Amino acid sequence: MTSGLLFDLVIRNVRVEENGPLVDIAVQEGHIVDIGSDIRCEAIETVDGEGTFAFGGFVDTHIHLDKACILDRCTICEGTLAEAVRETARAKAGFEVDDVYARAARVVEKAISHGTTRIRTFVEIDPRAGFRSFDAIKRIREHYAFAVDIEICAFAQEGLTNEPETVDMLDETLRGGADLVGGCPYTDPDPNRHIEMVFALALKHDVPVDFHLDFSLDPGRTDLPAVIEATLRHGWRGRVTIGHVTNLSAMSQAEILSIADRLAEAGIGLSVLPSTDLFLNGRSHERLVPRGVAPAHLLASRGVVTSIATNNVLNPFTPYGDASLIRMANLYANVTQLSRDEDMALVFRMVTEGTASKFGSAGRLEVGAEATIVLLDSPGPGDAVREIARVVAGWKNGNRSFDNGKPRIHRPK
Ligand SMILES: [Zn+2]
Repeated sequence: MTSGLLFDLVIRNVRVEENGPLVDIAVQEGHIVDIGSDIRCEAIETVDGEGTFAFGGFVDTHIHLDKACILDRCTICEGTLAEAVRETARAKAGFEVDDVYARAARVVEKAISHGTTRIRTFVEIDPRAGFRSFDAIKRIREHYAFAVDIEICAFAQEGLTNEPETVDMLDETLRGGADLVGGCPYTDPDPNRHIEMVFALALKHDVPVDFHLDFSLDPGRTDLPAVIEATLRHGWRGRVTIGHVTNLSAMSQAEILSIADRLAEAGIGLSVLPSTDLFLNGRSHERLVPRGVAPAHLLASRGVVTSIATNNVLNPFTPYGDASLIRMANLYANVTQLSRDEDMALVFRMVTEGTASKFGSAGRLEVGAEATIVLLDSPGPGDAVREIARVVAGWKNGNRSFDNGKPRIHRPK
């Protein structure tokens, strides 16, 4: 049947809500022009979604592409945060542009095939890394724009007050294509001054901020009040994200909810990084090792924007990884002992909606939106998290960006 309409693409028989009705998605010139049942049209490309769940793709709010895949040049003896920082700093001095590009490309291609369409990557800028990692990741951002939007956070991993030349280097990258600025107060001898220096750069360039924060199991040692205070004082509400904050896992629920209210009021988002946090925390415990994963779902219940992200892949911070966010969502749900359908739906939102970011509300499937669409072999988000659903195929701006093929069982004849 035809009504005379000819679209570029129509994806038929997909769900856009958990166990919802089967619908078709019509695409023209890179945008969604219709979502409905049995859309009467012809299309240059027609795809049968076969009952899969269609969504806007995963958003990885926190990943380090520059230092991924370096296990071959690092030693892991203690498995501690201090060792990971030390070993990676040593390896970083030897990074070359082509080397960073090749390792980052390997991870980005995995992320694409796992259905990720938006990435915030940290890139370390300091006297050891120079601008080599930054130059490589800028090329990655350009070369993979056909499949994924990448934003670059110019990141001071090794401190600022102890290495003031890093401030000028961050300033230069923010003039030269970085999207935001990031700091790490716990590696700086003066964490409060570090926080102010990062905010000064953010104000100068009018960009968001992302801090690695409170990466320990000690609730008494915290830089969070300083970040909240600076966020409110500078009017940076909705433009600040914090990552790790693993000491929340050592607090009572009442303390966590009190902090959640202050974060929600300051509009500060939280990225939880389960794989790294599980690997590095609690090394002094011989048994009953604490999990060290911040309970993001509790914070979300009080209105904090939360996300679950990859962080590191195959390096001393995390000697595992495949950049799969549906796997990370399942890991988080398992570690935090979640089971209800509404919790699964929340966990799915934490890998699809992102935190304070230029991505904003991108990723919603609606008429007029960018036709960036990923299909999951699942009736919906909850089941997808429970089963680590297979990612089937994806489109960016209406163009097919990957296809994982269809698994086949070969029965004996
Ligand atoms: Zn990180």
